[in-house]
Amino acid sequence: TASRFYASGSQDKVAKFKGQKGSDGKYLVSLIEGDGIGPEISQSVKDIFSAAGAPIKWEPVDVTPQLRDGKTVIPQESIDSITRNYVALKGPLATPIGKGHVSLNLTLRRTFNLFANVRPCKSIQGYKTPYDGVDTVLIRENTEGEYSGIEHVVVDGVVQSIKLITRQASERVLRFAFQYAEDIGKPKVRAVHKATIMKMSDGLFLRTAREVAKDFPNVEFDSEVLDNSCLKMVTDPTPYNDKVLVMPNLYGDILSDMCAGLIGGLGLTPSGNIGDECSIFEAVHGSAPDIAGKGLANPTALLLSSIMMLQHMGLYEHANKIQSAIFAVLAEGKTITGDLGGKAKTHEYAEAVIKKL
Ligand code: NAD
Repeated sequence: TASRFYASGSQDKVAKFKGQKGSDGKYLVSLIEGDGIGPEISQSVKDIFSAAGAPIKWEPVDVTPQLRDGKTVIPQESIDSITRNYVALKGPLATPIGKGHVSLNLTLRRTFNLFANVRPCKSIQGYKTPYDGVDTVLIRENTEGEYSGIEHVVVDGVVQSIKLITRQASERVLRFAFQYAEDIGKPKVRAVHKATIMKMSDGLFLRTAREVAKDFPNVEFDSEVLDNSCLKMVTDPTPYNDKVLVMPNLYGDILSDMCAGLIGGLGLTPSGNIGDECSIFEAVHGSAPDIAGKGLANPTALLLSSIMMLQHMGLYEHANKIQSAIFAVLAEGKTITGDLGGKAKTHEYAEAVIKKL
């Protein structure tokens, strides 16, 4: 059902959501507008939420890194805001390439221990793509693997990057994936891996998956080698519709972008970074510097992320209302942005969504 479309947690999860309503009946949510197109697409979310009467009060958060004791850190006020509110919506943050630049995205995930990256991949009704009826969910381990940041020069011309896999982090994301499958009514969980080659690291992930599966007798479990998944998904993604796919960090990063391609691209793909305490919802795409400031950006991915956020908070009614309006505009196809083949400016698309509320 629509209410479960981007569901990121069960009623039980919702019951655990600790955000407090203010005296005005609204929840405070930290908002990181981000770089590039971030402010433009955040404005659309703010306008649509306000028109829909969603009980959210945005608390702007600045994550511009500061230098403290020779280290780049996120401003403490921003960390405090997200910690206090338990939930944040985040626009894209640009990562300068090169030595000495720490990815702010990675820093945020580490700071708040956002261990599960949830990426639903569902065709949007009425929006034509090479495949119809795609409806799967990818869950990516978000804290370790190749993204552990352990790299060094061995000798000149030889570098080593360490892939770190721990039973603890694997178990945590696997349990989350099984629980998530139960919550959204998917009967199967599939672990995606390369244990055929990385026998120890991916082997540990896979063994842990088999152990965790025993605690979820109502969910079927199987596994698949990553390259096989890629081939099968681009050939016919529909056999994945009854599954939640769970995998180590790097595989999830790559496979989920491939899946974004199956449903119409980055402009339409939301995600949630879920932790035990805080969660941060964000579009999968980056800051799109090539179109920033021109009013051309498609805000749908950030909007769908904000819908995941509302569902995470248990605000299903508002989530459904906004989601239906977005889908109606996309299906009509008259007021869509350039990336989807239309001519609408960001604000014109947002206005069209508001008219459908
Ligand atoms: P990108 O996703 O920003 O852009 C890729 C292409 O998709 C561009 O042509 C862009 O115009 C288009 N595009 C992306 N989002 C769009 C939208 N909403 N509407 C219309 N078109 C859209 O990827 P990139 O150019 O590789 O990265 C730019 C910057 O963003 C880099 O600094 C990168 O590190 C950062 N980035 C951040 C995040 C994040 O914050 N989670 C994710 C990916 C990349």
